[in-house]
Amino acid sequence: MTTAAPIETDALVIGAGPVGLFAVFELGLLELNAQVVDALPHAGGQCAELYPDKPIYDIPGLPATTGRELVDRLVQQAAPFKPGLHLGQLLATLQRNPDGRWLAGTDQGTQFLARVVVIAAGAGAFLPRSIALDGLERHLGRQITYRLDDAATLAGRQVLIVGDEDVALEQAIALAEAPAAQRPARITLIHRREAFRAAAGTLARFQTLRQQGALHFVAGQPAALVEADDGRLQALRLMPPTGEAIDLPCDQLLIRMGLSPRLGPIHDWGLALERKQLVVDTARYQTAEPGLYAVGDIVTYPGKRKLLLSGFHEATLAAFAAAAHVRPGEPVHLQYTTTSPRLHALLGVAHPPR
Ligand SMILES: Cc1cc2nc3c(=O)[nH]c(=O)nc-3n(C[C@H](O)[C@H](O)[C@H](O)COP(=O)(O)OP(=O)(O)OC[C@H]3O[C@@H](n4cnc5c(N)ncnc54)[C@H](O)[C@@H]3O)c2cc1C
Repeated sequence: MTTAAPIETDALVIGAGPVGLFAVFELGLLELNAQVVDALPHAGGQCAELYPDKPIYDIPGLPATTGRELVDRLVQQAAPFKPGLHLGQLLATLQRNPDGRWLAGTDQGTQFLARVVVIAAGAGAFLPRSIALDGLERHLGRQITYRLDDAATLAGRQVLIVGDEDVALEQAIALAEAPAAQRPARITLIHRREAFRAAAGTLARFQTLRQQGALHFVAGQPAALVEADDGRLQALRLMPPTGEAIDLPCDQLLIRMGLSPRLGPIHDWGLALERKQLVVDTARYQTAEPGLYAVGDIVTYPGKRKLLLSGFHEATLAAFAAAAHVRPGEPVHLQYTTTSPRLHALLGVAHPPR
C-alpha cells in the first residue's frame, strides 16, 4: 500500500461506470477537472461487466450499440479532459476536510482532496466473490488471487481453481492450452458439485480437455487451508459430497467465482439511504451535504428509473451544480457544443466554419 500526498482535484468521481464517465465529460465542459476511482480493473461498470456484448437499443441517436461499444465511446468522449483514472481501487473513506473540501481515500492508499464529489457508484463496487476460509487474508495477492496477471508464473505448479461459471472454466482452459513451457503441472477445477453454469462451447472444451487429462475436476466444498511449517500454503482441504475430507496439493489457488456489487463503504459515510440508494434532490442531484452529488443507479428520487438515459441527465445537472459550488457567485452559462468556440477549444476540436 502506498500513502502519498493527496491528489488535489476539482471533482472526484466515485465509479467509472457509464454515468461516472459521462459526469467526467460534463464536468470537463464546465472546466472542472476530475479524478475517477473504480474497484474494477477497467472502466464501464455494469455495461462492461454484465453485458459487454449484448445490444442496447434505447440510447438516443444510437439505434443499436453494445455495452462494450458504449463504454468505449464514453471513454473516448471524456478523453479530452484527461481524467485521472484509478482502477482496481475501492474508494473506502470520505470525510469533510476543515477547509470545506472532501478528503477521500482508497483501499490502496491513494488519497484525494476534492472540491466536489460525484458518487456514481451504481449498485455498489464490483468486488470478487470469495470463500470463507480461516487465514485466507494471509495468502491473498500471493498464493491466493482473484485475478491472474501473469500466467507464466504458474509453470510447473499445482493450480486449483474454484468456481462453476464461464470465468472459472475459461481460466482452467486457458492454463491447459498455454504453451508447454508455461503450463502448470496440474490444473484442478473445484466446485461443490459437478454442475456448471457455463456456455455450451466452453463446457464442451472443458470436458474434452478433462478427458485428455489436461485438466481435472474434483467435487467438494473448500473447508480449510493447510499450511507448511514456514507458513506457505501447501494444500486445500476439501469436503467431498460424500466421504472423508481430502487434501489437494496447492501452490496457487485461483478464486474465480465472479464479481458482485457491494455498497460497502457508502454505508459508512453518514448519508441518507432509502433501499440502498442515496437520496438526492432533482435540481442538483445533491445529497444533504453541499458539494456531494450522486447520480445514476445509486440514487433515488420520486420517479427514478434505473436507465442510462436518466443517469446521463442527472450527471449533466450535477455538473452544473458542481460548477456553481466551486465558483460561487459566478453564473454558469449554458453553451452549445455545436457553436461555442470555448467548448471547441476545451474539446480540442477544430473550429467549424461559420
Ligand atoms: C443486463 C442489463 C442490461 C441493461 N440494459 C439496459 C438498457 O438496455 N438500457 C438502459 O438504459 N439501461 C440498461 N441497464 C441498466 C444500466 O446498465 C444502468 O442503469 C447503468 O449501468 C448505471 O450506470 P452507473 O454508472 O450509475 O452504475 P454502474 O454501471 O453500476 O457503475 C458503477 C461503478 O461504480 C463502481 N463503484 C461503486 N462503489 C465504488 C467504490 N466505493 N469504490 C470504487 N468503485 C466503486 C463499481 O465498481 C461500478 O463499476 C441494464 C442493466 C443490466 C444489468
